Amino acid sequence: MVTEISIHKTLKEYFGYDTFRGKQEEVINNLLAQKDTFVIMPTGAGKSLCYQLPALVMEGTALVISPLIALMKNQVDQMQALGIEAGFLNSSMSRGEQDATKQKVMEGVMKLLYVAPESLVREEFVDFLKLCTISFVAVDEAHCISEWGHDFRPEYRRIREIINHLPHIPVITLTATATPKVRLDIVQNLRIEEANIFITSFNRPNLYYEIRYKINAIPEIITFIKGHMNKSGIIYCLSRRKVEEIAEVLNVNGIKAVPYHAGLDASTRSKHQDMFLNEDIHVVVATIAFGMGIDKPDVRFVIHYDVPKSIEGYYQETGRAGRDGLEGNCILFYDFNDILKLEKFMKDKSVSEREAGKLLLYEMVSFCESGTCRRRTMLHYFGETEELKEDPCRKMCDNCRSPKEMFDAQEAATFALQAVKQTDERTGVIHLINILLGTANQQVTIAEHDKLPVFGKGLGLLEEKAWKTLYNQLMVNNFLIKDIQDYGIIKLSDKGKEYLENPQPLQLYVHKNMDIGHHGDDGEYEDYTSHDEILFDKLKTLVRKVAAEKKVPPYVVFSEPSLIDMATKYPVSMQELQNISGVGQGKAAKFGAPFIKMIKDYVVENEIERTSDIVVRSTAKKSMIKLFILQHIDRRTPLDEIAEIKGITFDEVLENVEQIVHSGTKINIDYFIEELMDDETVDEIMDYFMAAQSESLEDAEKKLGMAYTMEFIRLVRIKFFSDYGN
Ligand code: ADP
Ligand code: ZN
Repeated sequence: MVTEISIHKTLKEYFGYDTFRGKQEEVINNLLAQKDTFVIMPTGAGKSLCYQLPALVMEGTALVISPLIALMKNQVDQMQALGIEAGFLNSSMSRGEQDATKQKVMEGVMKLLYVAPESLVREEFVDFLKLCTISFVAVDEAHCISEWGHDFRPEYRRIREIINHLPHIPVITLTATATPKVRLDIVQNLRIEEANIFITSFNRPNLYYEIRYKINAIPEIITFIKGHMNKSGIIYCLSRRKVEEIAEVLNVNGIKAVPYHAGLDASTRSKHQDMFLNEDIHVVVATIAFGMGIDKPDVRFVIHYDVPKSIEGYYQETGRAGRDGLEGNCILFYDFNDILKLEKFMKDKSVSEREAGKLLLYEMVSFCESGTCRRRTMLHYFGETEELKEDPCRKMCDNCRSPKEMFDAQEAATFALQAVKQTDERTGVIHLINILLGTANQQVTIAEHDKLPVFGKGLGLLEEKAWKTLYNQLMVNNFLIKDIQDYGIIKLSDKGKEYLENPQPLQLYVHKNMDIGHHGDDGEYEDYTSHDEILFDKLKTLVRKVAAEKKVPPYVVFSEPSLIDMATKYPVSMQELQNISGVGQGKAAKFGAPFIKMIKDYVVENEIERTSDIVVRSTAKKSMIKLFILQHIDRRTPLDEIAEIKGITFDEVLENVEQIVHSGTKINIDYFIEELMDDETVDEIMDYFMAAQSESLEDAEKKLGMAYTMEFIRLVRIKFFSDYGN
């Protein structure tokens, strides 16, 4: 019989703590009473103890299901350091190691056994379990069960099936994030309907949340970090390439930073992690893989260079700041184009995963674009409505600090709610907006929703994205509720119904359009602010003049994005000109002089203070991959072979080569072109570009017709730029 005294004794003896934290004791007692237990606590609240301690005092072995091998290993090491028998089983272990672990479990000496869900579902593993005494099952990171969580793992859905092979034992389920929908999924899938639920509020009062347009992100990041020197921080990016790039940019700007992503080998990764933990460096630039299981209490800032895939992801990642309860700044750089990119990445997933992913993404969009308190929105998202009656934020988010403009939304809100009612509360926001805007697409017409009174009523009132924000605000303010069973479907709350009966003036936030980034597809043209229109026009005239002299089309001299960049950064020296996107040394030398002169004069005449005192130095333009390609082109390696050797697509090779010529380096790919096309074809395409108004491939394809493939056109365009532009 486990007594109150014995759990306190164990807490002290094994873990070294005098008291339980928060609801730990209640949770532990519930589990010891053989009851199913559901724990929802934010990261750092102390979830692990909730199953580690019971495992120690109960007879047999606790089976812990955990999604990541790295996490398991970490935990097992910690347990062993505390003198607790714990182990894990996974496929990377030798037979001998596995057998030794299994032996200890069968003898009942091992107190905790960690497994990944993939191992769990193997038949031989189930047979093995039947030979052991299992005290209980702990499902860690339980949000993985739900497609609506932020990292769904299909094997997690089979846990109940395995548990059913064992004698009746309690289940403890733990997660750091779970929306009401995810909670329901977990309960239903694990069949723990009777479980007692223990929830700790998700509010992190010490974290400051801010979302900025991603226009001038790099200089802003550098400025921010320079204002927080010697404080630890994490910068999250989505791609490995961006991680490397930003780490490099920071370093050349005097900020020591290391990259961290799955493409680095294990020893480099752990070296970089240790450097961060030991404070040899203060900044890590990482993909989201970084931070799982690391527990540094004094991370002072978390910067998202790219938008996370869901609000849970955002909460989770920002949650790594200020764990000690002190300062924690969370800044997200938002660009709607990134959302579109993320959507594209999902195209290989199943339809249902894609749909789920898309909804989560669009909730993120609403969150970013809304003028409502960030904290309030997040807490509402996690199902905390009680706490929201009082101000949970206390000016600790950008929207609370500088309140956004409001408008009387009575008319719009009434239509929005009517649309929900008239569609019998059976549709989602996107469909409703189509109805409001009078878009008679297939879904709308099949449902005959184009015949509803509210059809087209919203036209001219608000634009599409503003409607999304409006719906979001109606949800945060409890006029509408999300259907938990059928996610994405929204329904009227009592308050919403009442409002329709008795509409009144309603102050809501004006939608702020954050959709103003101008991205080149290659990501090289990112980061420019709204430019100087007058200078831009002057530069454009100059480009035309120079082009006429050199007998080339204007865009060959400098492309429009380059001009915009110049009209933003006002480069007044050769050196600065080379930092303009799309301008390399070659191009600067060949065409740059009159441009620099014009900009200098303009700056003086108009007494322009050039934007930041921080001149952001860019990293070496020729990244490793470009260098590799250049070397191979020198050796006349066919481009498709380069792709193969480097393990990238042909398309990526072309993109890189295009970037190389655009930045002013001469490249000779005649050897490759000659293999593919006859001279006549080449000439015809060259002639086209010479006369064309723009460098657009689509225009070229239209004009040149079916005779030439896009690839031919692209290859010859490269030759054209190289021959005439550089
Ligand atoms: P979670 O899994 O919820 O993110 P952890 O289980 O990793 O959190 O615990 C976070 C930190 O809190 C750990 O360093 C842990 O040792 C510590 N901790 C847990 N319980 C207590 C307690 N009762 N008293 C003091 N520290 C605790
Ligand atoms: Zn706020």
